[in-house]
Amino acid sequence: MAHAKKRTGSDNMEFRSDEGGRMPINLSLSYSHGFGAFTPFFDALMQGRILGSRCPVCDEVRFPPRMRCPTHHIETNMTELTGYGRLLSWTTGPIRLPQAKDTTPLTFGLVQLDGAINSTLVRIDADETQLITGALLRLQRLKENSGLPHPIQALIFQPV
Ligand SMILES: [Zn+2]
Repeated sequence: MAHAKKRTGSDNMEFRSDEGGRMPINLSLSYSHGFGAFTPFFDALMQGRILGSRCPVCDEVRFPPRMRCPTHHIETNMTELTGYGRLLSWTTGPIRLPQAKDTTPLTFGLVQLDGAINSTLVRIDADETQLITGALLRLQRLKENSGLPHPIQALIFQPV
């Protein structure tokens, strides 16, 4: 009586480990990322508007928004900023943004947003040789179908 060869999982293995016992494995995860209380902030950003947080006690405005005032530990309210800011300093270097395939030279700058008490790091879309300290910047309008992997990547400023 003939027996069919018993198949094992290793019969169909396309990968082989190297001499060190390592095997390249690519993982891809797909999940739904909820923005929670920051949903208005990201929605506004995708519409070209900047929302910060305002403390109802001290009236201080911060960007990005904080859910609670760091001084009074009380819930803040969202408040719209002008979308303008002043460039404090900047740097340019090769960056691979999250979910991007390629590394490209990008400029990031420390910006004092109009109406906020703090400065924040944002991406700057400009020829860095044309930038000067104190330059007036404005939030850049998104192009149609920009296909950003995350709305925070819409936080790009350009010189006015
Ligand atoms: Zn406060």
